[in-house]
Amino acid sequence: MVIRGGLVVDINGERKADVRVEVGKVTEVGTKLRGDREIDASGCVVSPGLVDMHVHLREPGMEEAETIETGSRAAALGGFTAVIAMPNTEPPQDDPIIISAVKARAQTALCDVYPAGAITKQREGLELAPMGEMHSLGVRIFTDDGACVASAGVMRSALQYARSLPGAIVAQHAEDETLATGHMHEGEWSSRLGIPGRPAEAEEIIVARDCILAAQTGTPVHFLHLSTAGSVAIVRAAKAQGIPVTAEAAPHHFTFTDESCATFDPLFKVNPPLRTKDDVAAVKAGLADGTIDVIASDHAPHPTETKERTFEEASPGMLGLETALALGISELVDAGVMTLTELLALMSWSPARLSGLADHGATIEKGVTANLCVIDPNLEWVLDPANLASRAQNTPMGGRKLKGKNRHTILRGEVVVLDGQATR
Ligand SMILES: [Zn+2]
Repeated sequence: MVIRGGLVVDINGERKADVRVEVGKVTEVGTKLRGDREIDASGCVVSPGLVDMHVHLREPGMEEAETIETGSRAAALGGFTAVIAMPNTEPPQDDPIIISAVKARAQTALCDVYPAGAITKQREGLELAPMGEMHSLGVRIFTDDGACVASAGVMRSALQYARSLPGAIVAQHAEDETLATGHMHEGEWSSRLGIPGRPAEAEEIIVARDCILAAQTGTPVHFLHLSTAGSVAIVRAAKAQGIPVTAEAAPHHFTFTDESCATFDPLFKVNPPLRTKDDVAAVKAGLADGTIDVIASDHAPHPTETKERTFEEASPGMLGLETALALGISELVDAGVMTLTELLALMSWSPARLSGLADHGATIEKGVTANLCVIDPNLEWVLDPANLASRAQNTPMGGRKLKGKNRHTILRGEVVVLDGQATR
């Protein structure tokens, strides 16, 4: 099989080339290659497959919202060849048995699925989960995501323990739960709308505290979905001091502001909440200057009935896998914040390296595993939530004109998405 006529982009830059793929590997990169099967990449970018460090696949326990199968299909359609599945399942991914079960279930998925392990038992923030046993099954990301590890003592113990686990990263959902009691960003709009708020400080206090703990223990801390200007400034200062911290941002946090909540539409309800214009600008600046290391979707499916409630009663979270790339292209590349190659770094090789995934985000050259996506950066399309692969439909992007779409996805040499359609 030959992927023909595209612009090949990876960590080494870009060049016009065809890519030959045989038995799961890239076997040749060159010009004028021909094959018995040819995949058209003209006008497109051929990139290492995208990697999403933060998705909720909801299985086991909440299959009415999503399954590993439907979520991995959404991922493949979005250009992703690997995702990290968050552990707030039911039961939670907090022990080796459930980690093994998720891995077994993911064998037939349309992308590689790597379960994250919980930091604490039941994600309750009290007692450490068996992180070592999960690590020996290949788990590298530990997080109680959805919940913050509130206790500084428990967080420090987790970091001290993780220090003995090669490649392990402790990832924090940074929201002080005694401050983050409301339903949207606390500010001018929450006052006008009469909706109780979640102040920026709820996030920043935990980010600052965990930078201090990362410095003290020497263990890397990764901040999930960074959303405020203050958090970006704290992480920037910590990195300047050589403290081992990394961060991610979600597309909705660089696309929407808290003003979106003025419609009272629960589709705009997320945790941490949509912030102000200044926060959005700071997140974009953080992505551009390397303070924020990766873009992660925080894909959070919810059944329609839990979103068709009042703003205050609705579940927080929105879908992201099938729109992340388009939002990156519209809000970051077209807006002049960064080049497409820099966007792909944030969505492919940087998250792959951070998550320790050697088979993803690799330089496109002879011998590497063929995990690839072919992106049309100029294609304009309109999102219809009914056409999404996800079981849920909770996205506020319905009817919105988007630019940039994944066209083909190749997973270990298998074409799992061809011309925007899943092949199985
Ligand atoms: Zn979270």
